[in-house]
Amino acid sequence: MNEKRCTSCNAPLAKTGATWFGCPDCGAQVLRCVNCREQSIPYLCPACGFGGP
Ligand SMILES: [Zn+2]
Ligand SMILES: [Zn+2]
Repeated sequence: MNEKRCTSCNAPLAKTGATWFGCPDCGAQVLRCVNCREQSIPYLCPACGFGGP
């Protein structure tokens, strides 16, 4: 199983609305749920600790 969780709030990601991108610092995959995206919750890279809006 490959469960994806939101990097910001650790909620399991829904099928739709979630977004993901590469960390600008280390390139690790950062996942955000639609909730955190709409509320502009800052993310924190799980690999290097880089944070951003
Ligand atoms: Zn979230
Ligand atoms: Zn990173």
